[in-house]
Amino acid sequence: MHGTKGSERGKKTGKSSKRKVKIYKNKKKERDELTEIQELQKSYENVDSSNIASFQDLPLSRRTLKGLSENGFTVPTEIQRESICLGLRGLDILGAAKTGSGKTLAFLIPVLELLYCRQWTRLDGTGALIITPTRELAYQIFETLRKVGQYHDFSAGLIIGGKDLHFEKKRMDQCNIVICTPGRLLQHMDENPLFNCSSMQILVLDEADRCLDLGFEKTMNSIIENLPPKRQTLLFSATQTKSVRDLARLSLKDPMYVSVHEHAKHSTPESLQQSYIVCELHEKMSMLWSFIKNHQKQKILVFMASCKQVKYHYEVFCRLRPGISLLALYGTLHQLRRMSIYESFCRKSSAVLFATDIAARGLDFPEVNWVVQLDCPEDANTYIHRAGRTARYHRGGESLLVLLPSEEEAMVKELENKKIPIKRIRINPNKLQTPQRKMEALVARDSNLKESAQRAFVSYLKSVFLMKNKDVFNVHALNTDAYSSSLGLAVPPRIRFLQKLQKNQQQNVKNNEIKEDNNKDLIAALKSRKENDSEELSSEEEEEESVTKSVPPEHKKQQQQKILNFGLTGSDSEEDDILQIKRKDHDLEGELEVPDSAPGLEKMSKKKNKIVTKAAIAKKILKKKIVANKKTVFDEEGEAVLNKTKERVSELAKEYETEDVGGIDIEKAKLVLREEDKFDKQLFRERVKAKHREKKRKLKKPKEEEDEEEEDKEGDSGGDWEGEDSDSGPDLSWLPDPDKVYKQDGSVSGPSDYSEQSDSESQADSGSQSEDPIHRPIPLKRKLSDGKKNTQKKRRLGDEDESDDDKPLDTGLSLPEDEELALQFLQSGR
Ligand code: ADP
Ligand code: MG
Repeated sequence: MHGTKGSERGKKTGKSSKRKVKIYKNKKKERDELTEIQELQKSYENVDSSNIASFQDLPLSRRTLKGLSENGFTVPTEIQRESICLGLRGLDILGAAKTGSGKTLAFLIPVLELLYCRQWTRLDGTGALIITPTRELAYQIFETLRKVGQYHDFSAGLIIGGKDLHFEKKRMDQCNIVICTPGRLLQHMDENPLFNCSSMQILVLDEADRCLDLGFEKTMNSIIENLPPKRQTLLFSATQTKSVRDLARLSLKDPMYVSVHEHAKHSTPESLQQSYIVCELHEKMSMLWSFIKNHQKQKILVFMASCKQVKYHYEVFCRLRPGISLLALYGTLHQLRRMSIYESFCRKSSAVLFATDIAARGLDFPEVNWVVQLDCPEDANTYIHRAGRTARYHRGGESLLVLLPSEEEAMVKELENKKIPIKRIRINPNKLQTPQRKMEALVARDSNLKESAQRAFVSYLKSVFLMKNKDVFNVHALNTDAYSSSLGLAVPPRIRFLQKLQKNQQQNVKNNEIKEDNNKDLIAALKSRKENDSEELSSEEEEEESVTKSVPPEHKKQQQQKILNFGLTGSDSEEDDILQIKRKDHDLEGELEVPDSAPGLEKMSKKKNKIVTKAAIAKKILKKKIVANKKTVFDEEGEAVLNKTKERVSELAKEYETEDVGGIDIEKAKLVLREEDKFDKQLFRERVKAKHREKKRKLKKPKEEEDEEEEDKEGDSGGDWEGEDSDSGPDLSWLPDPDKVYKQDGSVSGPSDYSEQSDSESQADSGSQSEDPIHRPIPLKRKLSDGKKNTQKKRRLGDEDESDDDKPLDTGLSLPEDEELALQFLQSGR
């Protein structure tokens, strides 16, 4: 028994002691954490980055160290060592390091440590903001943060476009670390009252130069305006911005420039083998096909210039069955598809991913063997980022750039200027396989595929046309007919933008001023269409393509080249020997100048990039004084008819409406209502008087005259009643006159009762709707039921009528049946 009691007592005391132990433990944990934080903060100033061999040597919290070691991160990379030491001290950082060198952890670790040391809790809201240019990159950073920050108590949010905005909105205030793309972040800043970043401590821009370039300029400026000026800012990229303007925009305070590879021989990873081939535009398809066929067991990423090209290559190659999985990633895909494709390519050990430049920056697809740049990159920086999708973190990888003869010279020069070691290799013609015949058959059979090919064709030419560096990109050097056939098209699609451009140019010979405007407009329009990749193909085929089909200049400087052997299994050809000589002899002098040949472009892209938020639209509407759902009725002379019952008449009200003050001035609004009330009462009195007058007039009139008049009225109201025109409506004169009936029956409320009734009630019941000076239509349902009421009254009272002529027919039917019968009579010529 004791034992039981004892044991019960023991249970109780056990519970409370457990609670006590828990509270004690929590307090101890808090104390430990506080001492840990103090010690960590003390050691920040004394760390020497050159003495750091492992993450353990850095003054990092136990939670972070545990997260790192459990995910296999033991030795920090160079950029991580340098930036973490400076970041922990609270300094602003401009971090630059080659692709794949571990920049993500270089900013994530300082973010975690800063929030930890400031003892940030869920209730403190957003403490860190990490902005990236693409959704996939944001997702990737989010995943890395989840891994290394798993022992911290912070909440993190992935805020990217294409997701449920409503869902995000509700949870924004709970996110301590927000990882986002610029557009979506601004949307939340504009529209979400729950999102508040006034206490934000640290801002990170990954791929900072891209986030700050023209494409995101407006959005980023608006975001920066909303951020607290007192903050730490970290910028990271492989091609870091040093632009004073960019740094001024971010108001960095004495930023530390951490460029670990600044003095390196090359700007790309040493383990990356880079080569280029030169081929004609119409040979690209065969080249790509042969490449894929010869690298079946590899993981390949192929970059193309536009979404439509990616789409077409994917569609047609899938049908050609190359024997390896194919994937396509581009901006116009649905977000869920984008994510699943991204993940699928991460998982696969051999696959080909066709992609636009949305995959160029930051993505860390594991074990990519080859990056093929099928279309020339916009500039050397884009080249670096695309090629950097392979050879990441000490692993090897190969990159192949495909250049047109017209692109070679200027592009290679640009790459060399950027310290990119690239050598020319040659395609082994014996190994080339062309899928053209098969493609032609496929395209001829399938109109969707044909349309896709046409779109790819036009969008490629547009992309070349819109490139800024005209030394590299020359749309007139392209053999467009041959290119069209290489895509499997029997007839080259019309290139309307070039035709227009050419027409303009011809005109401009005569008139120089018109030329500039037209071309600017055309270029601007094309640029804006390119940006959302929504250009439409013309179905008109009547005119022949008028593009100057200048044959690309022959390349005089034939050099010794390395042969790119597409056959992995070896070949009996002598040409399979690898000859390696790097191209050196350029006759270009000095640096390439980028001609500003399309001055309209920047202007237009700026215009295009302006974000239209709901708040902005509302402001615009307020400014223009547009009143929503306002209906104005005009008379035959075109004058607006003032509806006194709906519109404000008093001077005070008009003055109040035109006042440009935000919000509602309650006191003034009250005065206005009082003033308007006077007008309403006046109007009401007039109406009642009119009714009375009309009643008296009717009483005075001789009976026959009244009959005629009533017939007319009945005709009118009958037309309205049935929803028909009074002229074409059926003759209902043989039915009893409701007004007469009313007069005889004192129990039925007539027009004299008007003052006691509401407006609509009186109209419906009085049977003199057409007399009402401000008659308003009544909903059809209402009219019918009211009519029914009237007819019932008519029938009942009609029995008492002495006149045989006026005596209504008692059919014993309901109103609709009565009407049906009447119509039948009429039709039968009664
Ligand atoms: P960057 O941003 O510089 O292009 P990432 O941060 O994406 O590079 O890192 C590239 C790869 O290197 C990733 O797969 C990442 O997991 C790995 N990595 C980064 N730092 C380390 C490290 N200290 N130890 C091991 N692997 C690392
Ligand atoms: Mg990165």
